[in-house]
Amino acid sequence: MKNRSKQITMIGTGYVGLVSGVCFAKQGFSVKCVDIIPEKIEAINSAQPPIYEKGLDELLKEMVSTEMLKGTINTEEAILNSDVAFICVGTPSKESGEMDTVWIESAARDIGKALKKKDEYFVVTAKSTIVPGTTDSVITPILEAESGKEAGKDFGIAFCPEFLREGNAIEDFLKPDRVVIGAIDERSYETVRELFDWVPKETPILKTDLRTAEMIKYGANSFLATKISFINTISNMCEALGVKDVYDVAEGIGLDFRISPYFLRAGAGFGGSCFPKDVKAIIAAAKKANYDPLLLNSVIEVNKRQPLRLISMCKDVIGNDLSGKQFAILGLAFKPDTDDIREAPSIIVIDELLKNNATIKAYDPEAMDNMKQLFGEKVQFTESKEAALRDTDVCIIVTNWKEFTELQPNDVKTLMKTPIVIDGRKTVDAETFLNAGVTYRRIGLKK
Ligand code: NAD
Repeated sequence: MKNRSKQITMIGTGYVGLVSGVCFAKQGFSVKCVDIIPEKIEAINSAQPPIYEKGLDELLKEMVSTEMLKGTINTEEAILNSDVAFICVGTPSKESGEMDTVWIESAARDIGKALKKKDEYFVVTAKSTIVPGTTDSVITPILEAESGKEAGKDFGIAFCPEFLREGNAIEDFLKPDRVVIGAIDERSYETVRELFDWVPKETPILKTDLRTAEMIKYGANSFLATKISFINTISNMCEALGVKDVYDVAEGIGLDFRISPYFLRAGAGFGGSCFPKDVKAIIAAAKKANYDPLLLNSVIEVNKRQPLRLISMCKDVIGNDLSGKQFAILGLAFKPDTDDIREAPSIIVIDELLKNNATIKAYDPEAMDNMKQLFGEKVQFTESKEAALRDTDVCIIVTNWKEFTELQPNDVKTLMKTPIVIDGRKTVDAETFLNAGVTYRRIGLKK
């Protein structure tokens, strides 16, 4: 491990801040992770990741024990002892879909106050996903007002979007497809660029202005979300038109090099902390600027309806009256390998079942604690997939965790009252289940 001279502060220790922090520490930078939640910092300093992310456990242990990474709630101390800060706080949606800058503003205020006392040159880099213009119109004015200093003269400003995927975050951070650095000036760019001198040499590093870098992140997420709503639309048309299987169709589409096979998996729709809120935020920003992005409106609308197709399939199999029926929900996280349930399709499915007076047993390998906070006693959370399946009428697989792919027809036949499986993600093999006498339905598969 190289010993680097630059010291880094991460503001916000969620999925982005903590993962980036441990990865920078692994590259030899001394890293301070700041959060306003003391329990998170205590957990980090005792090498217990406050979130679930593959490989984070070991890496955090290593970085804490070698003192390359330290957690603190003291923003000022961290800033005074570092050269660059990355703002990694949340940028949630408001009711209107607009991005809420409340956390960005408070982080900028905290940094600005510390900057007032700092003599050395410092670069503030936003990593949170923020709509184009936010660095210029929100972050910079707050930093200048709080510090009494001038951006571009006394301190630097950059925006460096994060593209990591939860579930694969460490690998994505360490082997990025590209690094994008938007900067206010050359010095800010060079300072941030130096922090990425370890990326594999074939990795493109894009130098842009601030707004371009901000827009690249929204463009990327909007495109990926569009690809998912697109294949879900194709899937729904396959079902309507009696096409055998959308996955065969997707294979044929994806072999076109202009399209690529990725993100063509039809299912219950996208969720998570990024796509839904980011697409809504860029729509809201565009509308405010008098442009209505019709395509993206549809991406959101298609996605909102997609989880409900699982309910329609249930009704198609057992009839419209779901009251008193017992459901097993397998998978709560918005995708496998994460405990994140933000905007998860499972929430829409559970809500709809509860509205229909059905009873629910649910299981997820990592996301149960988060879901308990949302549904409490309304859902019975079980210790295993087998316990969730026991004595139920219908099983709905919402998230394709690996352990659900290992499900066998015999499991559902012996455990459930009636072996009915509604698969939201092509989790198990249709033919194996159908041949074994299971009533099996799946998004995009001819019934
Ligand atoms: P998160 O909600 O998991 O974490 C944010 C953290 O910031 C919280 O722990 C919160 O307590 C802390 N915080 C808030 N205000 C603070 C302050 N003033 N000082 C210090 N800490 C503060 O969020 P996340 O999922 O890591 O996302 C962060 C940003 O990165 C968002 O804009 C998101 O859109 C973007 N992003 C997320 C992902 C992802 O996969 N989660 C990927 C790329 C980009």
